[in-house]
Amino acid sequence: MQSDILNTDIKYLAGVGPKRAELLNVELNIYTIQDLLFYFPFKHIDRTKFHKIIDITDDYSYIQLRGVIVSIKMEGQKYKQRLTATFADQSGTVELVWFSGVKWILQNLKTNHEYILFGKPNLFNRKFSFVHPELEEIAKLENKITSSLQSFYSISEKLKKNYITSRVISTLMQNAISLIKIDIPESLPKYLIDDLKLMSLSKSIKETHFPTNANSLSNAVFRIKFEELFYIQVQLVKLKYLRISKFKGFAFKKVGHNLNYFYNNKLPFELTNAQKKVIKEIRHDIGSGKQMNRLLQGDVGSGKTLVALMSMLIAIDNEYQTCIMAPTEILANQHFNSISKFVDGMDLDIRILTGSTKAKDRKIIHNDLISGKINILLGTHALLEDIVKFKNLGLVVIDEQHRFGVAQRAKLWKKNINPPHVLVMTATPIPRTLAMTLYGDLDVSVIDELPPGRKAIKTYHYFDNKRLRLFSFLKEQIKEGRQIYIVYPLIKESEKMDYKDLEDGLESISRAFPPPDFTISVVHGKMKSAEKEKAMQLFVKGNAQIMISTTVIEVGVDVPNASVMVIESVERFGLSQLHQLRGRVGRGADQSYCILMSSYKLSKEAKLRIDTMVKTNDGFEIAEADLKLRGPGDIEGTQQSGIAFDLKLANITKDSHILQIARNKAIDILKNDNLLEHSDNQVLVKQLNMKNRHKINWSVIS
Ligand code: ADP
Ligand code: MG
Repeated sequence: MQSDILNTDIKYLAGVGPKRAELLNVELNIYTIQDLLFYFPFKHIDRTKFHKIIDITDDYSYIQLRGVIVSIKMEGQKYKQRLTATFADQSGTVELVWFSGVKWILQNLKTNHEYILFGKPNLFNRKFSFVHPELEEIAKLENKITSSLQSFYSISEKLKKNYITSRVISTLMQNAISLIKIDIPESLPKYLIDDLKLMSLSKSIKETHFPTNANSLSNAVFRIKFEELFYIQVQLVKLKYLRISKFKGFAFKKVGHNLNYFYNNKLPFELTNAQKKVIKEIRHDIGSGKQMNRLLQGDVGSGKTLVALMSMLIAIDNEYQTCIMAPTEILANQHFNSISKFVDGMDLDIRILTGSTKAKDRKIIHNDLISGKINILLGTHALLEDIVKFKNLGLVVIDEQHRFGVAQRAKLWKKNINPPHVLVMTATPIPRTLAMTLYGDLDVSVIDELPPGRKAIKTYHYFDNKRLRLFSFLKEQIKEGRQIYIVYPLIKESEKMDYKDLEDGLESISRAFPPPDFTISVVHGKMKSAEKEKAMQLFVKGNAQIMISTTVIEVGVDVPNASVMVIESVERFGLSQLHQLRGRVGRGADQSYCILMSSYKLSKEAKLRIDTMVKTNDGFEIAEADLKLRGPGDIEGTQQSGIAFDLKLANITKDSHILQIARNKAIDILKNDNLLEHSDNQVLVKQLNMKNRHKINWSVIS
């Protein structure tokens, strides 16, 4: 039977055997013939196209040459032997080098025979060389019927050492495919295949490994990518419907006194159109009787806090309590201060609860929550404790949600009999495609506009030699009444890492900016929270001109008069972190600056990050660049989404158009068949069960 073949242990496949099987198990996670068939090539090279040696430059990755071996030379002693050969085409010569397996190669390599060479050129002593290239003799090749598009498979070092090359995988693949006599059962519903004119699963697998031509390869790849993205979307959209059907939401029907009063008397500025649009979306959600689960994305400084506050006022007008959870105490304090100021004079009870709230005060807060006295509670993780109980919690706001885990967020759902509405906010802009994948069961609102009058922050990259110039620039800024942040990656000097540290920085900054003319405030993670708060207040109130800190100020800190952000050892930071840090300035009407300080030694990636920062202020563009540099696997949250993420071919960044089609199809299907009960959809149920067998089920939690 077909499924028996697919489930056959890989060791029984012709060409494998127990030793290779173990390598395939460990290195590539291939246990069965099916696993092998789903081990897709990472690229295809058109084997009818060759480079000329004379045209090689060092930006090439893998290239293909056609020529002859002119000479072979063995060098070195017994255990340090290396084999070199000269390879020539009509236009020039290159050097080939082998360090291992030399004996075997020496025996098999023939001079004056024509070969196809495949490999990556390295520039060495002004000559191009190829280390361990793949070589195929043309005479032998022409007997084999392979397509002109050859598949290349990722191979680990260990596999290479054991002579399992991409070419070997290809041969094994051929053996596996020859066993498949009838079609592999379809893994997508027939109506979907017909509708999108998808290639069948069997054919797609064959074509991906051994393409007939470029066109059928692209159809095959489309089918496989579509399927991968489609099943993720089906899972996410299904969660969403499940949540809607399972939970009744509180309906906030009234627009009452608090919101009206705030809007007419307290709102210090005109809302931006984006803020208006988002508030409308939220109002619609929380008034609908369905439980809201909404992600609010907005670049740093776009005014999310105000949106949260106005949503909370609606909840309060409908006799519900609300809370905001923030990832740090500094941020919780700041929310407390700014929200208290916004609603100053209104009859609202606002409190703050953090890890450093005293036991006595804690008790009072606990009691006042239960009695319903408190309208708005601000805080950190401390809100999650079981002892924190509300009389009637109606809306939960989670700020900088990427800092919290799924389980933590889940706890807030349980603070009322029916789950409260949830608004999660993030200033780490997530590219749309990733948001759709990660948070596909959330509704997404975007504030895509900054309040008016903000000037784009000017960003510069300086090496250490410009430090004196930096200092005089900072002095000018201070003279104009501005304030300055200087951020360090480390608190203390580290032996392992050659980065600037805060202690050392404080010393040199204190020398350059001495009292009594200058006051410096210092904040870092090792300080007690009362000290931290005191140092923050010194800066917030304008009594210190310079704040020296670690990344504790990364999220949310809002001091509009601060106009310069200096980041030391910028090469140490990731893109989204840099963008967050830069977002601490540019919050007032003055021209703001971000100065990125680095050493001379920069990796290619660090250089790219710095260039991106200098080039753009747009958080979404930066997030896209970040995603490209790091890949989605590294982005916080991908591991926590609770969804079986099995992307072998699809790439969330590059395949966003396929993702969009997949999402629309998933929505169409689940809209008509919430629980996937229709007989046509049983193939979906079967696939989902298979995919989720080993996954934790976070169920309905966003
Ligand atoms: P973030 O989205 O990064 O959390 P904040 O809510 O901290 O941004 O807002 C940044 C600053 O912009 C705050 O000082 C806030 O008072 C101000 N602000 C918010 N909305 C507006 C607006 N519509 N017009 C002018 N300033 C605004
Ligand atoms: Mg904020």
